[in-house]
Amino acid sequence: MTPNVTPLVAGNWKMNGLRADLDQIQAIAQGAAEYAGKIDVVVCPPMTLLYVATALAEDTGLGIGAQDCHSEPSGAHTGDVSAEMIADCLASYVIVGHSERRTDHGETDAVVAAKAMAAWRAGLTAIVCVGETEDERENGSAHDVVGRQLAGSIPDGATAANTVVAYEPVWAIGTGRTPTVDDVAAMHSFIRRQLSSRLSDAADGMRVLYGGSVKPTNAEELMAIENVDGALVGGASLKSADFLAICAAYRAIVAG
Ligand code: PEP
Repeated sequence: MTPNVTPLVAGNWKMNGLRADLDQIQAIAQGAAEYAGKIDVVVCPPMTLLYVATALAEDTGLGIGAQDCHSEPSGAHTGDVSAEMIADCLASYVIVGHSERRTDHGETDAVVAAKAMAAWRAGLTAIVCVGETEDERENGSAHDVVGRQLAGSIPDGATAANTVVAYEPVWAIGTGRTPTVDDVAAMHSFIRRQLSSRLSDAADGMRVLYGGSVKPTNAEELMAIENVDGALVGGASLKSADFLAICAAYRAIVAG
C-alpha cells in the first residue's frame, strides 16, 4: 500500500443486477459505513440501477460509479450515456477502458483517454483500467504493454483526485487465476514509476488498484502487496457478504 493513501475497494457488477438485487447494494451501504474514513468503498452497478443505487447509498459512505461513459456530453449517440448523465444520477466514479470494453467495443487508448477527460469534465473520478493479455504476459511484454496503455489512456491533467488506475491482467479476470505476489508487486511498482515520471507531483497519492479474481480468500495476500492501493472486484462484488469480506481484509491491513 502507498503511505498516506486511503485505499479504494470498487465493485464492478458488469452486465449483472436487476432491481431485485438492490438489497445487495443496501447491505453493502450499511457495511461500508463501518469503513468511513479508512477505506473508500464504491459499487458500479449497471446503468439501469445507477440512480436508485445513489439514493440507497446517500449518507452511508458508499460511493456509486458507472462502468463506462461516452466522451461527448450529449448528442446523436444512440444507446450511449454521457459522463454528465452519470453525474446527474449523483454517481461520483466511472470505470473507463475496462478490458471487456477494449475487446468487445474495440476501444483504443485514445478513446479511453477521451472518456477519462469526459469524466473529469463532469466532475467524476475516472477509474482507468490497464492490463496485459495472457500471450503478452507469456512473451515477456506485459510491462511494455501496460506502459503504452498508461501513456495513451491517461490524459495530461490526471491527478490523485480525478483518476484511479486499475491494473487488471486480462487473463486473471473472471478466471480464478491471479498473478504471483512478485508479479503484482513488480507491475504496481512499474506503474507507480511511470505515473511519477509522467505526472510528477500530481501522481502523488494516485491510487493503483489490483483487479482480477479478487476473492475473500486471496484479498489479504493481494492487498498487502506494496503499491497495491485497493481492488477492483468483479464477480465477488455481486454478493454483499463476499464484497464486505474483501473490504474487511483491507481494513485489517490498514489497521496494521
Ligand atoms: C473486473 O471485471 O474488473 C474483474 C476484476 O472481474 P473478476 O473480479 O470477476 O475477475
